[in-house]
Amino acid sequence: MSDCCDLSVWDMDVRQEPTIRVGVVLPEDDMQQVRLTIPAEPYVIGLDDMAGPTVDSTTLDATVEGERVVVQVGDQRLGPASVVRLAPRDEQPLVRGAGIHVRGVVTGRGFHWQKRIHPALAGPLEVRVHDGLLLVVNEVPLEHYLVGVVTGEMSGDCPLEFLKSQVVVARSWVLALTENKHPGLPIHRCNDDDCQRYHGTTHITARAIEAVNSTRGQVLVDNRREIIDANYSKSCGGISETPENVWSVSKSGLTAVVDAPADSSARRFFPVTADNLHEYLTGDWLSSTDIFCSPAVVSEDDILRHLGKVDEAGRYFRWKVRYDREDLEQILRDKFFARLDSSHVAALTTLVDLRVSRRGVSGRAIEIDIQYLDPMRQTRFVKIADQHRIRDVLHEKFLFSSAFEVDIERDEAGLPRTITLTGAGWGHGAGMCQIGALGMAIRGYSCEDIVNHYFDGINIYACY
Ligand SMILES: [Zn+2]
Ligand SMILES: [Zn+2]
Repeated sequence: MSDCCDLSVWDMDVRQEPTIRVGVVLPEDDMQQVRLTIPAEPYVIGLDDMAGPTVDSTTLDATVEGERVVVQVGDQRLGPASVVRLAPRDEQPLVRGAGIHVRGVVTGRGFHWQKRIHPALAGPLEVRVHDGLLLVVNEVPLEHYLVGVVTGEMSGDCPLEFLKSQVVVARSWVLALTENKHPGLPIHRCNDDDCQRYHGTTHITARAIEAVNSTRGQVLVDNRREIIDANYSKSCGGISETPENVWSVSKSGLTAVVDAPADSSARRFFPVTADNLHEYLTGDWLSSTDIFCSPAVVSEDDILRHLGKVDEAGRYFRWKVRYDREDLEQILRDKFFARLDSSHVAALTTLVDLRVSRRGVSGRAIEIDIQYLDPMRQTRFVKIADQHRIRDVLHEKFLFSSAFEVDIERDEAGLPRTITLTGAGWGHGAGMCQIGALGMAIRGYSCEDIVNHYFDGINIYACY
């Protein structure tokens, strides 16, 4: 771990493992205080450029005071300082639970599974203040970070070939260096789903460490030998989506795939259209399909055992959400209309119709039309584009995916009484399907088979 370079100056020619700065408590979490439990090994507390005391086996509270941090350890008060850095004095072994335990870290920010966890984070931890709110940063070598990612995203007890493919894909995504979702913060990535889920050493296993060590430095490159921006999501639902339909950009190596063997009869649904959507979502063929992410290949028990610790149980391959009209109206008001300039878009009083006007090849809605009555009982129309926005506005938390059909039951007046969304998959659906990759590993496919199934025209290349 000695001769790492900083991720922000890393490129392929460096041929060296970088270090990564991961934001674990972000200003958006709105925290003013965090409790840290220091393990039995000695940690040196740095206050800006000054070395402070060395502590072990203790609990400390770091609190915002203006734009600086004060630390309370027992009856000792340290600071204020702009940066408080807690660094292990000696080299740390990479074992489960190693490092500082941080209380009340938010995970699943803004998604249906948002909750607080208490992860263990090995390596140096920095506590800072950004606009009066806490920012906690964990600085780790990239290969250690990946052990914490693979065991945060999915269980560290998954089959080895799955874990290897998840590691190679996660390493490619981070080293492609294309996305900075946190501009202005002194971090490279955060600990959460919008970047990659990272739970430090909390859930690490010997198998996850083996998956990282046996693929050290390996990334997916295209035929120009550039690292691809290897996205992934939990369940494609049977067919993955193109990056054009998810983010309105094309990405090297990413294309839509039918998540099944080459000779699968599921290929008849590609592309999903208005004509075959209902059969794709609900047909009897689903009970015996060879789609890798289907319950016919990965049983619900398998999924439960292999999901990440913060994931919630649920039927992700096919699902149903049903609303009374008044409930969906309230969700649309809260999550869509309330956020718009009311001088441009009239308020919604009554929902009249909801339909999908554009779909991607996986059936994912990329544009929906809403017809409604305003307070003057005038008929109004509004379009909502983008799968992420659609999933946000159609659920009080977040809809699993935008691959759904709409079924409206109407009352005598012709207004919706109930609105049912029947859908497929969990996530944006572009790139690797994590549950499908798990299904492939269960069926005996190798890491190389898995990444070649989900990505197009790629090679595995060891960049350090
Ligand atoms: Zn992030
Ligand atoms: Zn899939």
